[in-house]
Amino acid sequence: MDLHLKNLFGRFQDQFGSGPGLGPGSGTCLMKVEGIAPNCIKSIYRAAAALYRTEPWKRLHPGHLFGIRVGKDSDWSNKKQPFPCAQFVGGDGGDIGIYMFRNENDGKRMTGSRETIRIPNVELLRVTFETESLMFPSNKKMIRSLSLEASGTDRFPVIDVTRCTTSGELWFRNPTLEELRFVYAFMRAISLVHPLLQVDTDGGPKWSRLLHFEPFIETVDVQWPPEMAKGNDLVAVTVSHPPGQVYDERASSTSHSTPTKYAEPTKEETFADVRMNSNGGLRQCATCEKEVHGDQSVCCGRCRAVIYCSSTCQKQQWKDTHKSECGLYKAMMEREEELAMKIFMFPCSADQPCKWLEALGVHQKGMWRRKCSCYSHCPFGLLPVKGGLWDLWGGLDDEEYPQDAPYHNHIRDGISSPILLSGWSEYYNLRSLPLSSPVADILSHPLTVYYILTALSISSKNRLLKGKEVILHYLGPEGELDWMPAFAEIGHLLNGSGNIQIVMVGPEVPTNLSGTTSGISSRVRVNLLRGVYQEEATYLPSPHVIIALNCVLDRNGSWSGALDVIKTMGFPAFFTDQSEISCANAKQVLRSAGLHITHPVTPNPFRSPVRNHSPSSNLPSYSNGFVFGAMEFPTYELSPWNYILTAPAIFSYPIIPENYVHWTQTPESHIFSADLPGVRKEEIKVEVEDSKYLIIRTEAVDESTIPGRSFMRKFRLPGMINIDEISAGYEDGVLTVMAPRSITRRGLLIDPAAVPERLEVLARAA
Ligand SMILES: [Zn+2]
Ligand SMILES: [Zn+2]
Ligand SMILES: [Zn+2]
Repeated sequence: MDLHLKNLFGRFQDQFGSGPGLGPGSGTCLMKVEGIAPNCIKSIYRAAAALYRTEPWKRLHPGHLFGIRVGKDSDWSNKKQPFPCAQFVGGDGGDIGIYMFRNENDGKRMTGSRETIRIPNVELLRVTFETESLMFPSNKKMIRSLSLEASGTDRFPVIDVTRCTTSGELWFRNPTLEELRFVYAFMRAISLVHPLLQVDTDGGPKWSRLLHFEPFIETVDVQWPPEMAKGNDLVAVTVSHPPGQVYDERASSTSHSTPTKYAEPTKEETFADVRMNSNGGLRQCATCEKEVHGDQSVCCGRCRAVIYCSSTCQKQQWKDTHKSECGLYKAMMEREEELAMKIFMFPCSADQPCKWLEALGVHQKGMWRRKCSCYSHCPFGLLPVKGGLWDLWGGLDDEEYPQDAPYHNHIRDGISSPILLSGWSEYYNLRSLPLSSPVADILSHPLTVYYILTALSISSKNRLLKGKEVILHYLGPEGELDWMPAFAEIGHLLNGSGNIQIVMVGPEVPTNLSGTTSGISSRVRVNLLRGVYQEEATYLPSPHVIIALNCVLDRNGSWSGALDVIKTMGFPAFFTDQSEISCANAKQVLRSAGLHITHPVTPNPFRSPVRNHSPSSNLPSYSNGFVFGAMEFPTYELSPWNYILTAPAIFSYPIIPENYVHWTQTPESHIFSADLPGVRKEEIKVEVEDSKYLIIRTEAVDESTIPGRSFMRKFRLPGMINIDEISAGYEDGVLTVMAPRSITRRGLLIDPAAVPERLEVLARAA
């Protein structure tokens, strides 16, 4: 027996005693779980791998107990969270895993100074990360046949439920499907939030091995993989430490919004490794800002994200700031693969823009002149234009750029409606563009606008579907001012339904264009206005949506005025930014401006496929890389439902939750709307639970029918709602729920079936 194996087995025996069937893996196998689908196993393995990579065991020990809530109690059998308390075991170089207990008391009783103590008849759910060589043949076979994702180099999770009998024997069983759902949600959530735990330097005696963390509670939305979703797509998971934390405590302790801090392991005062950077080109040291050639630069060996001129500068920044941020950067770097769009057949990395454009044959040509700094002397909007569309697209072959022509074959049964797009491949397909065409890089701006108007902002989508006009305030245009021919594509996508008025406001609009209106297509009009948004806003027609692309909210102080307008006027606003770190910073800016995130930071399906390289960072960065939405929201109640972390793994999911509920508000009420096409009115149920939660779902009227769409969304109502006056209406496939502001609350059921069609005569309480 090899030494490692011997040690490992020895440790198991110390821990559990010896007995038949004992050993790592316990002989259970997910394949044997009743009703489990292979995709479900894949999702669980992926979640386990994502968690493993965040290395929680570096800081978390069995003594650190966590409280967990997944969804609501009634989601689970016996109306009870199955394993609401968890600990991390291992961490001293041995086998590692998660143990989950039926209650906090079990957790406490089984927590020894180093490892878990055996207590008879206590059942625990275990996820252990085993090396493949130690696993049972049944598990190995499953891993091979399903090509499951490894957690570490050869580590795979084994999930089982174990119990020690009174005679000291250990019993194992396969987890149930429900238990697997629970552990899945837990793994997803804890991998996002555990890096947020902050070490409490004053807590605990100095001689203690155990780190102490400040009391902690965080709620994140976890998306179920399709095979685990039971009607609702997202579930809120609350993680707390110690387990008893509740939200109210946090509300009082952090009355103003504190920046999210990612604490890192504290044991070592040593610096992270240094790694040579292999990227060419000129880079800039993040500490001293000295320019350095790519080959001579170094980067943080742990996160690989930050670039320095020398290890001296790296050590300096590690001490100053980077030590606390490295974990966050590392998590963001993890997503390089996921964010790279691999469908395109042109080079998707613009380390040196001029060279990249040259390689494509479009350098200093047409609209591409705004893609490098060669034309920075020419004011935005004033690039000289000579030829037609062919020239504007830099002389690409005719079939390589979108023609100024309507989409054919897209009018079904004589009914025209805006074309809804999910991503680049669909767009390229529709336009019959070859994947070698780089036009996505420029079209990212207009198509992101279109995507926001037709997918993220439900109110503007509904207006367009009804053939109405949508007014859009577009803040801070720069290079886009020279891309109007690309924006004309929006008009074609509208496909004969609705109009869009884009009001572009910003200091970069040239004076001689300010005040002009141009119809760039029969359905899209663009007004240009030079000035600062907050000064102009009052004179402009009220917008349905405000959009700012690549906004860099954190680096530009002048945003505060615009954010004030968004807040006081209550307009919904959507932003894009290039990297996750700028989004994380932007969220802080929005929160401190009193705005709330109404649409979580998600990768934008219409981001440019071309990766940018910032001089001092290796973080994945794309033009319009991520999109998020914000709006004013009452601040008198801290609700766990309106915070969604910028957390890494959240992005590994589909772009927009399908069962998305849009939230707008007026001074009088909060308005929630959801797309429910193909559902009969009587199948929609709108309920208020515990006077606090709004539930929108579909339900079969009788057993013989199935709703056209399964929908389920539950969220916390904002404070100060007049529950008695909540009303709902269903029209043209859109459910709208109105919740008037007030000061009293009570429970009731609103039944859209029992009310007249029109929204104006909204449903009354049943
Ligand atoms: Zn330096
Ligand atoms: Zn680092
Ligand atoms: Zn150039």
